Formats: sequence, C-alpha cells, structure tokens
Amino acid sequence: MENYQELTAKQQSFFQSGKTKDVSFRIDTLTKLKELMTSHEQDIIAALKADLNKPEVETKRAEIGLVLGEINFMIENLSSWSAPKEVETPSTHAGATSFIVAEPYGSALVIAPWNYPVQLAVAPLAGAIAAGNCAVLKPSELTPHTSSLLAKMINENFPKEYLRVVEGEVETSTALLKEKFDYIFFTGSTGVGKIVAEAAAKHLTPVTLELGGKSPAIVHEDANLDEAAARIARGKFANAGQTCVAPDYLLVNRKVKDQLIAKMQETITNTYGENVSENHDFPHVVSERHFDRLQKFLDNGDLVIGGKSDKSRLFIEPTILDNISWEDPVMQDEIFGPILPVIVYDELSEAINAIVDRPKPLALYLFSDEEAVQDEVLNTISFGGGAINDTINHMTSHYLPFGGVGNSGMGAYHGQASFDTFTHFKSILKRSNK
Ligand code: NAD
Repeated sequence: MENYQELTAKQQSFFQSGKTKDVSFRIDTLTKLKELMTSHEQDIIAALKADLNKPEVETKRAEIGLVLGEINFMIENLSSWSAPKEVETPSTHAGATSFIVAEPYGSALVIAPWNYPVQLAVAPLAGAIAAGNCAVLKPSELTPHTSSLLAKMINENFPKEYLRVVEGEVETSTALLKEKFDYIFFTGSTGVGKIVAEAAAKHLTPVTLELGGKSPAIVHEDANLDEAAARIARGKFANAGQTCVAPDYLLVNRKVKDQLIAKMQETITNTYGENVSENHDFPHVVSERHFDRLQKFLDNGDLVIGGKSDKSRLFIEPTILDNISWEDPVMQDEIFGPILPVIVYDELSEAINAIVDRPKPLALYLFSDEEAVQDEVLNTISFGGGAINDTINHMTSHYLPFGGVGNSGMGAYHGQASFDTFTHFKSILKRSNK
C-alpha cells in the first residue's frame, strides 16, 4: 500500500508552492484532462464494456460527453468565477470597501462509485482542479478495468504531488480517510456516506456527500402517458437501472395505471427489442452480490413486464412489478437495478404523504401539466432535485447544481457549483487610513 501520509504531505507542499492558484495553470490542466479523455476514448469505451457491458453510445454520451461538456464550461468561465468579487459595504463601515476572494481549499479527496465510473470520478476531479486544488481520486474497485485506466491516464500524465489516482477497496478508502485532507467529495451509498462524514469530522474536513435513495416518479391522472411511459422507461432502464437518479419506483394514479404500464411495455420493446436477453447492448448488473440482491425482488407483487434473469451473465431484463405495497422488500431500500415497482394512489395527498414520511429522495419526477399539482408537489416534498415531465436530465445541465438533501446527501456540483464546492470564499473588508 502506498504511504498516504507521505502523499498528502507532498500534495500540501505542492499546494503551498502556489502553482495551482494560477488560473492559467488550472486551465492548462483542464485542457490536458480533456485531451486525455479524447485520446483515450476507445480505451474508455472498452473498459466500460468489460466492466458493465455499457454500450458505446451510452459511454460516449453519459461518461465522456458529459465530462467534456463540464470541462469546457469550466474553461470558458474560470477567469470570471475565480476573480475577486466586490460587494456592497454598509454605511456603518463608511470609507471601507468589501470583496470576496475565491481560495482553493488545498488537497481534496474524491471517492467515486462504480455505476458511472468515469463521469462520477472525473467530473468532481475537474471541479477540484478548476478551483485550484491538488487531488487524490479513489475510484471504485467494482469496475477494475475503468479504475486502472483512470490510474494510468492521470498518474502517467501528472505529478503525484498534484493529482493522484489511488486504486483499492474499502481498506484503501479507510486508510485515505485517516489522513487530513482539506476537502472530501464522496459519491456512493448513504451507509458509506455516514462513515465518510464521521472520518471527515475527526479532522473537521468539509464534505460533499452525493448519496442515493428511493427516487419516486409520480404520474398524475392528467399526464401525457405516451411521454411519461417513454421518459420513465428511458430513465429507469438506462445502465440497467444502476443510475443514482433513476426513478426507483412509480406512484401512479389508479385511473391511468393500466394504460401507463401498457405504454411502458411498448417503449421497452421499441428500445431494447422483443427479447431483451438477446440484446447484447443491455448493461449487466455490476456484481453477483448485487444480482442476488435484485433477484430476490422479482417475486414481489405481480410480475407484469419482464422478470427473466441469467446469473451467468449477470443479466436481469427490464421488469415491472404491479400491486406492490410499501411493506414489500423491494420498497425498503434503493433498488439500483432494472426493476420498477408500481404503487397506485387515488388522491395526490396520499402519494405526497407517503414520500414525506420516508427519507428525502435524491430525485423526484412528476408527470402532470397542471400547475396546481406541480406547485403542491414542489412545495410539500423535499428532495435533491428533479424534473417535471421528464426523468434524469436535470443532472446534465451546467446551470442546475446537482446534489441531495438529508439522507440523499449534502452539497452540490456541476457547472459553477463544482467550482464553488471546492472553493473557500474569503470575505475581506478593506479600510482606508485616510
Ligand atoms: P458505495 O458506497 O458502496 O461505494 C462508493 C465508494 O466508497 C467506492 O469507491 C468504495 O470503494 C468506497 N467504500 C465502500 N465502502 C467503504 C467504507 N466502508 N469506507 C470507505 N469507503 C468505502 O457505493 P457504490 O455501490 O459504489 O454506488 C452505489 C451507490 O451510490 C448508490 O446508493 C447510488 O445511489 C449512489 N450514487 C449516488 C450518486 C450521486 O450523484 N448522488 C451517483 C452515483 C451513485
């Protein structure tokens, strides 16, 4: 195991040299990172195919494209984000001026999960770089081809006192978390998020926690069912349901449930073919442990769509379970797989109360064109972020800070929020001696 105390000490002294505070140095690093993503495109596609059977088009869009978009946006805006901002000064402080200086924290630790193993590692890393930090990245051990590719790309192109990828399992994370970093950015499960927060508290290190949870999709009786079916199916079954913001379960008005399910069947067939098990582009479940966990849900409620699985290829087909109750095992924890349970409601208030009684979700999706319904949902339920008449796409806008609340996390990133997350804003009052 690498000596992490030595690594963090080296990063501290590199940071103290002031090099990373130079905005053009940060832009050069971001440009180099972008070039590495582009020149390794085929390697990234191959690694994700090996780790998750991720289809090329998905890798290009959700792993490479999204990160390149983020980096470009950072490069374009970095000078303005990092410039000192003058603010007003109250009359009680007459004669003085006030401004806010954006200052990098120092050395940041980024811990990433396996489900979008490039995007969720490199997007926060880019934020740390843009803000002027040194960084250590710990990718997930469950996607070993991608993790070792990331290590090769970063470690062979940057000095370790500036950027370093450390591969390893829980022991590696645990050892890294013993060291004092100036910022910790963690993406993963709520349970591990608590472990990270506890470790960070020992050093009073600030954290961003990008966690998970059960994100509902509510389909109201007035919803456009064709669009709702297509957009829910796309958001749920992309990456075989292994997306943190995938709709976890469906809350649908009783009057439109049967119609919605029929339309979802059409969408699934149109997207993945009559027999999904023959579609070699459908991603597999990440590991046997996750496969076994998911397979136990297949007998919950009534199976209305899908249900086939094959452990030898870690394959589970897009599945919809009807007549689910809140007590069923599938409703106890985040599913994180291609299984969509359906619960009906008669009054919107029932759906709202049920969500509010449970931990705050990372995302929420509402399908309704009625403004009163939209207002009621937005004003009564707390959740990380979400969409009206869509799923998952809120996380691909640079202008929408992305993050959770309560059990689904704290803090946010993407676009300027990434820069802000890795920045300490230092407030200065400057008095004149005249
Ligand atoms: P995980 O929490 O098991 O692992 C995440 C990272 O933490 C990995 O690098 C892992 O090696 C490390 N880790 C695991 N156990 C640890 C421990 N005891 N101490 C320290 N580090 C430890 O999560 P996962 O299975 O990789 O990812 C799935 C979860 O992540 C889901 O809950 C999902 O919703 C969530 N997620 C959230 C987001 C988001 O942006 N909010 C994005 C993707 C995934």
